[in-house]
Amino acid sequence: MRLDRFLSETTPLTRSLAKRALKAGDVALNGEPVKQGARQIDPQADVVTWQGEPLALLGKRYLMLHKPPGVECTARRGLYPRAIDLLDVPDAERLQPVGRLDVDTTGLLLMTDDGQWLHRITAPRRRRDKVYRATLAEPLEGEAASRAVARVAEGLWLDGDDTPTLPASLRMLAPFEAELAISEGRYHQVKRVFGALGNRVVALHRRAIGPLELDAALAPGEWRALAADEIALF
Ligand code: URA
Repeated sequence: MRLDRFLSETTPLTRSLAKRALKAGDVALNGEPVKQGARQIDPQADVVTWQGEPLALLGKRYLMLHKPPGVECTARRGLYPRAIDLLDVPDAERLQPVGRLDVDTTGLLLMTDDGQWLHRITAPRRRRDKVYRATLAEPLEGEAASRAVARVAEGLWLDGDDTPTLPASLRMLAPFEAELAISEGRYHQVKRVFGALGNRVVALHRRAIGPLELDAALAPGEWRALAADEIALF
C-alpha cells in the first residue's frame, strides 16, 4: 500500500495534508523519517508513526446502536448530540448511519464505515423492510383499522410526492400501537403515512431492518459491534 494512502486511512489527514506532513518530517517509517508518499509499505509488518504516534489500519466496523431520543443522525455538529458522539471508538467520525432516523425516533441504528455494505442495505431496489413501532395520538381500531391496513397494503399518496408509496404492511398491536413495515426510506415516511390516515405519531421506534432486530439487551444510548453472522445478513 502507498504510504500517503495509508496515512489518509489511519489519520484525519486528507491526501494533500498527508503530503504536507511527510514534507514537514512528521512521518517515520520503521524509525526513519520518510518524505515520499509513493513509498510502498506493508501495513502488517512496517511501523509508521505520525508525530511520534504509531498508526494502524482499522478493519471495517459495523455497529448497532440503540438510538435514544434527542440525538441526530448527521455528521455536522448542530443543536443536538450526534449519534457518533455516543460511540466511544477511535475515529467515530468515519462511521455513517445506515439510513437516518429523526431526532425524536428511537431504536435500531446501524453505523459503519463500509460504504458497500451500507449501500447493500439502503439501495432502493433491495427493498429491505424497516419495521417501526408507532404510538398514535388517536386510537385506530375496528373498521377504521381494517381500512387503514388495506390502504397501506395498496400504497397511498403522501403530500408532495410524485408516486404512491410501495405496498407496506400495517399491523395494529393495540388501539394506540401500530407496527408498520416499509421497504422505502422517504422523508419522515412513517409519520407522513399516519398523517395521510388522519392520525399522528407521538412516538416512533425502529425495531428491525430486514432480518436484523435491535438487541433487546441494549438500553437506549448503548451500542455493540455486530457479530460476523449479523454482518453477513446483508
Ligand atoms: N419515518 C419517520 O417518519 N421518521 C423516522 O425517523 C423514520 C421513518
